[in-house]
Amino acid sequence: MSDILISEQMTGPDLEELRQRFKIVFDPELWKAPTQLREMIPDFRALIVRNQTQVDRALISAGARLQVIGRAGAGLDNVDVRAASESGVVVAYAPDQNSNSVAELVLGLMLALARRIPLADHDTRRGGWNRHRLTGIELQGKTLGLVGLGRIGLCTALKARALGMEIVACDPYADPKGFAVAESGARLLGLDELLPLSDFVSCHVPETTSTTNLFSYSRFCQMKLEAYFINSSRGSVVKEEDLARALSEGKIAGAAVDVRSEEPPTRHLFAGLTNVILTPHIGAFTREGQQRVLAALCSDVSAVLDGGAAKHFANFEKPRTPSLRL
Ligand code: NAD
Repeated sequence: MSDILISEQMTGPDLEELRQRFKIVFDPELWKAPTQLREMIPDFRALIVRNQTQVDRALISAGARLQVIGRAGAGLDNVDVRAASESGVVVAYAPDQNSNSVAELVLGLMLALARRIPLADHDTRRGGWNRHRLTGIELQGKTLGLVGLGRIGLCTALKARALGMEIVACDPYADPKGFAVAESGARLLGLDELLPLSDFVSCHVPETTSTTNLFSYSRFCQMKLEAYFINSSRGSVVKEEDLARALSEGKIAGAAVDVRSEEPPTRHLFAGLTNVILTPHIGAFTREGQQRVLAALCSDVSAVLDGGAAKHFANFEKPRTPSLRL
């Protein structure tokens, strides 16, 4: 019998420490083989995943010895947290450990869009020297519209303010007198008000029924013609065909897209467009962010397997004590 099954790529000193104490089976390609994963899971007390393994009700039910699911990241859309809670399985995750990395990527993407850096690089490599054609804009004095003012939204707001940007935010669940609004200095607005006002719109909402396809063609048409749209949250939040159409028709000036409705994407809707920057879901992928995520997760998985409690867990109800599953 083994203790921990890891079904996606991850490395680091914290995993090595975990390996000293528990028997680990590591198969970074296993997420691609759900049937094989379901056949293997009954042997394990813990499953550690990133965002590609679909941890659904059937998989959780098959995990007769399962005590803890460790999600190496913040989003929980690939884990059926309710099913885990009902089965008394702890869902440990890393809610804040990569927020700074994502916020720094958003800042980088805003600067890259504003100064047309990818286009300038491409043109100059090909022998061009087109300074006038590559005239950009400054971020200072511009309005950043944040859709979602949670951990990453707030972190992005603080950095954008340091560059002299004004912050407006749409978050129906934000407390107008709460910490995030006070710290960010954001003016809370409805989406209908935020979109026509913002020079940059950056999306930081979770994947839920209310955020699926939140950004459709009509939403992009509400934005300024010279505005930029950035999505580093979840691909499902944006109707990708509509974004491609808005970009090709010049309804907005440009976009940066880190997350896709299908990852890796098989349809290349943005391939012919020069006003979009594409990145392969790298928001959380910094050495520091990954180290913080794995340190927190390994500590929590280890605590649960030792009969203790996880510090960061996402269960809806208090999970049954792990010993009930042994
Ligand atoms: P969070 O839970 O701290 O914040 C999300 C915020 O969105 C909350 O304040 C919530 O009230 C708000 N919200 C919910 N529904 C809304 C709606 N319909 N309209 C406006 N606001 C709404 O989450 P977070 O840690 O800030 O993460 C935000 C997103 O970033 C998540 O989708 C997460 O999966 C994603 N993420 C992406 C990467 C990456 O690599 N690109 C890394 C980490 C997280």
